[in-house]
Amino acid sequence: MSRHRKIEFEEVAPQSAPQEPAPMTPEEEALRKAQLEAEAAAQAERVEKARKERENAFRYKGTPTPLLEELRPRLQMGPIPVNDFMQQALAHPKHGYYMQRDVFGTKGDFVTAPEVSQLFGELIGIWVVWVWEALGSPKKVQLVELGPGRGTMMADALRAIGKFRPLVGGLSVEMVETSPALREVQRKKLSKGSAAGSSEVRHDGTGIMVRWRDTLGDVPLNKDVPCIMLAQEFLDCMPVKQFQYTDLGWCERMVELDPTKEGPHHLRYALTRGPTPHSQVLLNQEIIPGIPTSPEINAGVEVSPDALQSAQEIGRRVSISGGAALIIDYGNNGPSVDSIQALKKHKKVHIFESPGESDVTAHVDFSAIKKAALDGSTVDASMAAAAAALAAAGSSEKGDAKGNKESPRQAAMRGGEEGK
Ligand code: SAH
Repeated sequence: MSRHRKIEFEEVAPQSAPQEPAPMTPEEEALRKAQLEAEAAAQAERVEKARKERENAFRYKGTPTPLLEELRPRLQMGPIPVNDFMQQALAHPKHGYYMQRDVFGTKGDFVTAPEVSQLFGELIGIWVVWVWEALGSPKKVQLVELGPGRGTMMADALRAIGKFRPLVGGLSVEMVETSPALREVQRKKLSKGSAAGSSEVRHDGTGIMVRWRDTLGDVPLNKDVPCIMLAQEFLDCMPVKQFQYTDLGWCERMVELDPTKEGPHHLRYALTRGPTPHSQVLLNQEIIPGIPTSPEINAGVEVSPDALQSAQEIGRRVSISGGAALIIDYGNNGPSVDSIQALKKHKKVHIFESPGESDVTAHVDFSAIKKAALDGSTVDASMAAAAAALAAAGSSEKGDAKGNKESPRQAAMRGGEEGK
């Protein structure tokens, strides 16, 4: 069969020359004028009605947040993927949740383990000392923390590390943080007298050099300096993509403006009309070991390409420098269906309710993270539910603070020598 379709043309009748309209009588003219006026009045009424409807819808759905107003022109061009929306909600330079404020604590929106008890950070510090010794007490070591929040965990860890002078002498600290507001909170916590905006300070207690970087990629990597990495509740704020299985295959969940009056939010979900390049590449057992092989119609999965990429980079660095990494987070061994959760003032809210003003997280897929970190590297890993250790550190309340009823499932992953 030919690949070209035959195009058939319809015969079109030749157009006749336009005819001059017959002149109107004065009565007809008056009637026409009245008709036009009535049409204009009806049109004005329709416009006014639509305006009122929009106004009402506005009230019903609540006042749009500054972030929503910022995103509106983009959303008017069409839907955006869920991870794109989550990224904007957390990290939009001006209106992103983490970007402008200190969001932690009882007065903030949520509490994390290091904020509950100083024992948590001190235990992490002791783990760092243990790894250092297991690595043969190298002269120089780099300690990297991803997403340090208020800097509490690092402050507590350095207090514990401070007792081990041989380690203190060769240790440098790298804080990977995107939020300028949280960088300032961290700087003040670690070095009270330091100048505002400094990206390099000396820790008050130990004199250890602390530097801030925007991304892990910006942290210097030296094969002769083992790198010990910490990521506490960092991967759960990496944006996730969501997919749904239809008779066309895995389609991607999108976010679009909801123009209807009935919808409870200004935004709503939409689905692509078929598989997308991302669904075709990502939803693969080689990348996500727990992906269902014969999914049912309407089955859903969640994948965080950013978390996978972070894990890959962590694995690469541990592998090159011979260090170790400790990843602590909420999640499962396998992909979630829809675990996105927003918290505002310690209460669960819908992610569309006040974008940019609530904390948005999703469960971490530990088996996919482990695979991403280990593939192509020489790292060894082990996973453990760390709930017991964390409970001992007084952080068992964390599950409630995060709004989860079930006990938090945390996993520790360590690489390098000590994992063997
Ligand atoms: N580890 C801290 C904070 C957890 S909240 C604690 O347990 O208390 C997540 C942290 O990661 C915040 O500091 C946030 O600003 C930071 N963050 C989020 N996305 C980031 C990214 N892509 N790169 C670097 N930091 C990020």
